[in-house]
Amino acid sequence: MSAPVLRLVLGDQLTPSVSALRGGDPKSDIVLMAEVAEEASYVRHHKKKIAFIFAAMRAFANELSAAGWRVDYVRLDDPANTGSFPGEVARAIARHNPAALVTTEAAEHRVLAMQQIWAETFSLPVSVLPDDRFICPKEDFFAWAEGRKSLRMEFFYREMRRRTGLLMDGDQPTGGQWNFDSENRKPAKGDLFMPQPRRFAPDADTTAVLDLVADRFADHFGDLEPFWFPVTRAQAEEAVAYFLKAALPRFGDFQDAMLRGEKFLFHSLLSPLINVGLIDPLDLCRRAQAEYQAGRAPLNAVEGFIRQIIGWREFVRGIYWREGPDYMQRNALGATRTLPWMYWSGETDMACMAEAIGQTKEEAYAHHIQRLMVTGNFALLAGIDPHQVHEWYLAVYADAYEWVEAPNTIGMSLFADGGILGSKPYASSGAYIDRMSDYCRGCAYDVKDRTGPKACPFNALYWDFLQRHRARFEGNPRMAQMYRTYDKLAPDLREGLHAKAAAFLAHLDAHGTDRKA
Ligand SMILES: Cc1cc2nc3c(=O)[nH]c(=O)nc-3n(C[C@H](O)[C@H](O)[C@H](O)COP(=O)(O)OP(=O)(O)OC[C@H]3O[C@@H](n4cnc5c(N)ncnc54)[C@H](O)[C@@H]3O)c2cc1C
Ligand code: SF4
Repeated sequence: MSAPVLRLVLGDQLTPSVSALRGGDPKSDIVLMAEVAEEASYVRHHKKKIAFIFAAMRAFANELSAAGWRVDYVRLDDPANTGSFPGEVARAIARHNPAALVTTEAAEHRVLAMQQIWAETFSLPVSVLPDDRFICPKEDFFAWAEGRKSLRMEFFYREMRRRTGLLMDGDQPTGGQWNFDSENRKPAKGDLFMPQPRRFAPDADTTAVLDLVADRFADHFGDLEPFWFPVTRAQAEEAVAYFLKAALPRFGDFQDAMLRGEKFLFHSLLSPLINVGLIDPLDLCRRAQAEYQAGRAPLNAVEGFIRQIIGWREFVRGIYWREGPDYMQRNALGATRTLPWMYWSGETDMACMAEAIGQTKEEAYAHHIQRLMVTGNFALLAGIDPHQVHEWYLAVYADAYEWVEAPNTIGMSLFADGGILGSKPYASSGAYIDRMSDYCRGCAYDVKDRTGPKACPFNALYWDFLQRHRARFEGNPRMAQMYRTYDKLAPDLREGLHAKAAAFLAHLDAHGTDRKA
């Protein structure tokens, strides 16, 4: 019998048609999958995130075995497990003596760099194949970006609409507009009919993973249980069907809303599943489009949803690969403050921060506006070191992988890339949070107050941030109005705002939280 081909599948490549498996011979080739400690702990990932990935990997290994593949699966608690990809590939080569190694390129620079030297390390033919589960190949993004003065998601998105034909009538966008975002900014009210996520009871395999994670990663951030994520392809399909029916119709209207005690609103919660490969993003968008065509979901909802996936998701990936590995070190605004302890403890008198961090701890989930306009906005205004913020986001969310997390954090949220991803920082005072949520009503701080003892910290920090970075942003047409407003403030109010911001930041530095000492 001739030597087998070893086909390595990584934890976010759980797709039967992934390039590493395509064209393989299930009978003679060997699929290698390995749970490695290095990947689970190079940042201290949330317990639920580790459990989700290992459980989904084990389910995928079962799926492949049922389809006739020979799967060599290395569990984390296998005593011989070396704890790293190179170590596990080396051991598998020794076990199987393969003729070649085939793998799909990793989704982040760090792991791709490992793959690129394997041919030399192992003296074996190694194919690192493109990951074509994305809609826009990297090279096409680079070609689109080449020569442009600035990269704006909206123009890239229109290209993706034309390329996929999604919501297109000939060469025109359905409904006569590319973007219906202006309809998608309604605040929400508590509603008995608010859909709650479809929850899945852990099966025996997932329960074994939960025990393992409880044992090995007890000191990582976050609650492990209750664990209810879908982990099999069939469960992922159920989650998609449920979202399309129960939440998509109102996804658009309340996309930016935040409500106390309502962690999910009308969001899909599908990002962890898409990012590991349990859901095909283009197929998901086609199904969302079909809901519009059947009259079951309005255009503003479906367009908004599709834009997040073929627009934002693909755009941030393009930026990640174009900008290179040093992107994670960017710090255009020179922010150096240490990440306050409250990001880990959730202990703060700021109701918005407590809510966003609290649910992150419980669920490894917060929706986009919580990430951007609460925890991200605070980090931006308070001048927190972008690399520390990046590592926090990478650790705490179940959907976090560097290619998608870093551009959202370093670029969109913190403007640490100097404006590559977005044309202006997403900075706002407490007024935005008050408009889009009910958090302020139950907060120890007063959102209307700017300098008093109970003044909302976001207010003084916002004006202080603008003034601190005046030289950089004053000439930005999208920020001119903010500076005009600042200049109209009475001089003693301006002074009071800067003094308030300085006192708050000094307290934050001294105590690691804004809790009164
Ligand atoms: C600071 C910060 C960090 C983030 N880190 C991550 C991350 O690590 N992983 C991640 O998948 N998303 C990240 N996002 C984007 C976004 O917040 C999440 O994709 C979204 O909240 C996931 O929840 P959902 O599936 O319910 O999304 P929905 O609101 O239902 O949106 C539908 C889908 O659109 C995609 N999407 C939406 N917004 C974005 C975006 N800005 N970038 C890329 N894809 C998007 C996701 O696949 C998502 O599942 C981050 C955003 C910010 C501001
Ligand atoms: S008052 Fe300020 S700190 Fe409190 S919830 Fe509102 S925005 Fe957040």
